[in-house]
Amino acid sequence: MGRPSTRGGLPGTPSGRMSAFLSALAAPSLPASPPFEAALAEMAAPLLLLDADGTVLFANARAAALLSCAEPAGLSLPALLASCGAAEPEGALVLDAVRAARPARTRLTLAADRRVEAALAPLSVGGFALTFEDVTEHLRGAALARQEPLTGLCNRVGLHDRLDAALAEAGRTGTPLAVLMLDLDRFKSVNDTLGHPVGDALLRKVAERLRKATRAGDVVARLGGDEFAILQVDPRPGAEQPQAAEALARRLVDLVGRTYVVDGHMLNVGVSVGVALSPADGSDADDLLKHADLALYRAKAEGRGTYRFFEPAMNAQMQARRSLEIDLRRALALKQFDLAFQPQIQLETGQVTGFEALLRWNHPERGPVSPALFIPLAEEIGIIVGIGEWALRAACREAASWAQPASIAVNLSPVQFRGGKLVETVMNVLAQTGLDPTRLELEITEGALLENTDSVLDVLNGLRALGVKISMDDFGTGYSSLSYLQKFPFDKIKIDQSFVRGMEGNAECGAIVRAIARLGASLGMRTTAEGVETATQLDAIRAEGCTEVQGYLTGRPMPAAQAAALLSPSVPSPAPLA
Ligand code: C2E
Ligand code: MG
Ligand code: MG
Repeated sequence: MGRPSTRGGLPGTPSGRMSAFLSALAAPSLPASPPFEAALAEMAAPLLLLDADGTVLFANARAAALLSCAEPAGLSLPALLASCGAAEPEGALVLDAVRAARPARTRLTLAADRRVEAALAPLSVGGFALTFEDVTEHLRGAALARQEPLTGLCNRVGLHDRLDAALAEAGRTGTPLAVLMLDLDRFKSVNDTLGHPVGDALLRKVAERLRKATRAGDVVARLGGDEFAILQVDPRPGAEQPQAAEALARRLVDLVGRTYVVDGHMLNVGVSVGVALSPADGSDADDLLKHADLALYRAKAEGRGTYRFFEPAMNAQMQARRSLEIDLRRALALKQFDLAFQPQIQLETGQVTGFEALLRWNHPERGPVSPALFIPLAEEIGIIVGIGEWALRAACREAASWAQPASIAVNLSPVQFRGGKLVETVMNVLAQTGLDPTRLELEITEGALLENTDSVLDVLNGLRALGVKISMDDFGTGYSSLSYLQKFPFDKIKIDQSFVRGMEGNAECGAIVRAIARLGASLGMRTTAEGVETATQLDAIRAEGCTEVQGYLTGRPMPAAQAAALLSPSVPSPAPLA
């Protein structure tokens, strides 16, 4: 590439005017200074000198090379910018600054996606210096650092940057914007059962659906694992927040929840969505992301596959939850747990056949905390495994001390099936407490069979091989109960108390109880009606053919000593049920 001519030259030509210009620049009293001119020509930074009209008087070698122009000198600035493919609106900024004789700094996109930072500085002798810095590689690196490699979506840093920029823009224009946090439901089981390559392919398909569900101005990001986020910056014309965010959230739940085919597998995952709006829910990025996260937490807690908007009360609820979590983590070590024992009665004889051990947490300041509150939390933070083992050991030890060989039922959380240690734990507890395995009944819910059904069935068979009995608890509240009954020969089905409660005045509940009792009879499984509180309910469940009953009517959960006393030969057995 030839160096632009800069020496001598006739007055009036660019090179001639350049000589005069350079003399003025170097020292007004001196003639043109060749060493000074040479230094400009050879300097490392790309440099153009322009006259007051914006005509190029001088370009050093670096500038000519960067702009891919053999002879910039003599070209008008618009002609030069056009020749190197500069995008119109960006070039116009420089031209405006020349016309107004003011400094300017802007980023230009040249041919072949070359990105340069241009700085225009008016000179005291008239005209301008226009310098460039090639930032292509820098920007490419920065873009890569903001991209998530698996899906090509923005990563967390990228989302944060875009959110900052969108908030600044929204501050000027007043346009509302929404942040949607997304978490896939049941993704972990796909990854665990079918392996990471299938999990990765599924994540890419989810990312594709998210892109399709959004519009050009929106930003879709993957924050890690199965967590995604969407910044909705551009609600449909005429559509306002929160309507636009609600429409998007509904679309996401529908689209992401549709079946995927990956490597010949039909896969189903759902998505939970939390939404925060700006300015109502926060005007900085951290607040908005945090609030969308809290709303997501609520969506997951309320059944997944749904969306929730942030509400200010969620902040206080989260703090209460954190404080409960701190207390719960200490409860086992501080010996705050206890067991209550609720009698189970055989309907035919009216005799107590056994007890269900029910966990109790007595906190010194909070008082008794309901299992419905702390067990889901213990499951969520993983400490149910230790608590469950404690409950199992305490229940077996207690039952081993009873005067009669009544059965002892212990609840198992689905989480306890995950570590691969359950059979070993139960075996150890039986050995340590000396309880006859046939007296132990482990209660599981359908939730345990929902994920990784095959490996859970393996564990159940392992437990059965120890001689332990297995009951299906809260039957009828899950999804695919019948298929589970067919997959594993449970010893007992416990009909959920909601059906028993509904029997008075609701014929359908009666029909369900009857159907389950008959199903149990034909499959050789005992059926226990839970939550029987009134004599009418007792008559009804007896008429429907249940074999056992457990409820407040026949005995509330009681302390260990009282349960033991019920089985003691010195205490007369409760009168058989009428
Ligand atoms: P579940 O296993 O279905 O236990 C029966 C629940 O129904 C107990 O509630 C019991 O007190 C209550 N109940 C019994 N009869 C009646 C009645 O006539 N009326 C009414 N309204 N309720 C009745 P609890 O003790 O609050 O336990 C709730 C749930 O917590 C249990 O439901 C079980 O799923 C879980 N849970 C309790 N202990 C443990 C444990 O050691 N481990 C695990 N993983 N879960 C446990
Ligand atoms: Mg139970
Ligand atoms: Mg139950």
